[in-house]
Amino acid sequence: MDGKVFSKNYLTAIKGVVGFVIHSKSSDFYRKQYKVLSPSILGISSYDGFRNLPFLTKKTITDTSVYKRLYAPEDDIIIFTATSGTTGAPLVNARYWFDHPRVNEMVKKYGVKKAMLLLNPSAGMFSGTIYTSREKLTLCVGDVNMLQIAAQIIKEVEVNAIITTSTIIYHLNKELTKINFDKSKIKYLSIGAELTTRQYFDYIQAEFPSAYITYAFGATENSGALGYQCAKIIATGEPNIYHFKKEIFVEILDEEGRPVKMGEMGEIVITSLEKKAFPLIRYRTGDYASEIKEKCACGNERTFRLEGRANHDVLRVNGATLMTRLIENSLDDVRNYLEPGFQVIVQDVRVKNTIKTQLTLRVVPRAECGLSEPALTEAIRKAFLENLQVSGNKRLKELVEPGYFLEPKVELCKEWGQEGTKSIHIIDLRAKN
Ligand SMILES: [Zn+2]
Repeated sequence: MDGKVFSKNYLTAIKGVVGFVIHSKSSDFYRKQYKVLSPSILGISSYDGFRNLPFLTKKTITDTSVYKRLYAPEDDIIIFTATSGTTGAPLVNARYWFDHPRVNEMVKKYGVKKAMLLLNPSAGMFSGTIYTSREKLTLCVGDVNMLQIAAQIIKEVEVNAIITTSTIIYHLNKELTKINFDKSKIKYLSIGAELTTRQYFDYIQAEFPSAYITYAFGATENSGALGYQCAKIIATGEPNIYHFKKEIFVEILDEEGRPVKMGEMGEIVITSLEKKAFPLIRYRTGDYASEIKEKCACGNERTFRLEGRANHDVLRVNGATLMTRLIENSLDDVRNYLEPGFQVIVQDVRVKNTIKTQLTLRVVPRAECGLSEPALTEAIRKAFLENLQVSGNKRLKELVEPGYFLEPKVELCKEWGQEGTKSIHIIDLRAKN
């Protein structure tokens, strides 16, 4: 982050939010966090000064009850949202205002009349869509764990928009196909909440050819959307490129908490520029992104490439970095043989007196992929081994040859099970100690 840009665009709003939480009568959560720094905390006058504020982590938040970190009158709270809880205790958050401009866009620009909301009901995006001004939009809600029924409702109600995740739309599409639903009736798809791989992106476009498709990036910790795609980004056809909403200040930081260089990948740390029920200040999201140097023609000055969740999309192993995006790229040559989706299992294996890392790639071959065994497995294994970029310009092969990794294995699965609303691409089974 350039100090001048910070002072010009963000300093006033940040001072406002920090002042708001420091002087709050309803909660002393941030005063406790910042006690080592007070009273100089209000003297933030530069990016370096702002960087003295300690980070906020998920654990710090979940260790405090939601009522003890409420910066709004309890009577004004409309709904509580919660993270999925798949990585520990759910983070419960309060919400007292709503703004979901996309809903209006859906209605006015794309003529949507009936939309299905197919998300985890405790998710911020779910409540954000329900509690919003929605002129002439009728919502119906589907259960993410009962997609066969959701598909039947879509057909019966004649839904023409779906708000969901890329994992769910993949599984839902199979159910819609089974009941011969005319997918050209879907005019609008809002896909969010997880990294969308290129395979899913292309799949969704091919399966819903009449739909205007937008991708949102959110975090329930922040009670809803963080990132959006402007029309210019949508026109590039790139998944995972976002602007952040103007109410959010974004830092991209390395493991030591220092800003990375422009274009390098780091953790997304967000600060809310609004005085919300619980404003996040320097919150470590556990998501990775890099900032794109080129300015977007829409006028938003900052554009980011989302790389996904720490440990599930970006995992450091033996000095190498496994990334969902690069794993997917490595399979380009064999992509026509495969259903969208993959998993890489990372395990430690004892070999004589040493421990070596073994990667197992799980994929689902297409029903009539045109290649039989063992040629299919071998083609996939070769692509993965020779094309997977793991550190700098090094390929997996170059780390297998000197013995840092064992030869990778390939497992062909029959189909993907649906567990939850999101896909985990990298599964780390190494002993933790
Ligand atoms: Zn833009």
